[in-house]
Amino acid sequence: MVEALRAKGISDEAVLSAMNEVPRHWFLDSALDSVAYDDRALPIGCEQTISHPSTVAMQSQLLCVRPTMKVLEIGTGSGYQTAVLCRMGARVFTVERQKGLFDKTSRLLREQGFRAQCFLGDGYQGLTGSYDRIIVTCGAPEVPETLMAQLKTGGIMVIPLGEGEQEMLRITKEGEQREQWKVEKFGTYSFVPMLDGRQMR
Ligand code: SAH
Repeated sequence: MVEALRAKGISDEAVLSAMNEVPRHWFLDSALDSVAYDDRALPIGCEQTISHPSTVAMQSQLLCVRPTMKVLEIGTGSGYQTAVLCRMGARVFTVERQKGLFDKTSRLLREQGFRAQCFLGDGYQGLTGSYDRIIVTCGAPEVPETLMAQLKTGGIMVIPLGEGEQEMLRITKEGEQREQWKVEKFGTYSFVPMLDGRQMR
């Protein structure tokens, strides 16, 4: 998988080694074992999908994560992206809106020894605290103000923006004022939508 990721332009060695060390099949139904390392999104139940490995790699690389950084992830889903960030040494706080996924994934991460803190909640509200990095793994119609407020000055947010298709944005909060937010664009992706509220089933 690592060679395929290199071929797709992933060069951050910390990302590549984390992805080499975290088995993606742990985060999927065993019926999908034979395709677990293909570069494709796959179903994880609750009408959601695990992102393409190349998307996980790209978002992780854009995030410029260093060990001990506090990272807030919106959209825990299968927990694969969460695990990769943990393996990179980040302190990960992750929020999922669907109770079914939250229950299953928080248990799995714990059992596999990933020390992420999992929360059931609405990612539009983010999580109390302030973070060095914020990664959104669902397609957001706009950049949530609350999340920008929870990003430390100097921090980076990676967020796929748009409905239907999304453009991958990296926003660097160079100052508190909106004019001091540097926005860079990194191509088109297709994510499941970021939805309002929580789903308690
Ligand atoms: N990083 C995950 C991506 C899963 S898909 C993985 O690789 O498996 C995106 C996830 O975002 C879904 O589980 C979906 O339920 C969740 N989601 C959508 N809107 C949300 C919101 N407002 N708050 C938190 N999670 C949300």
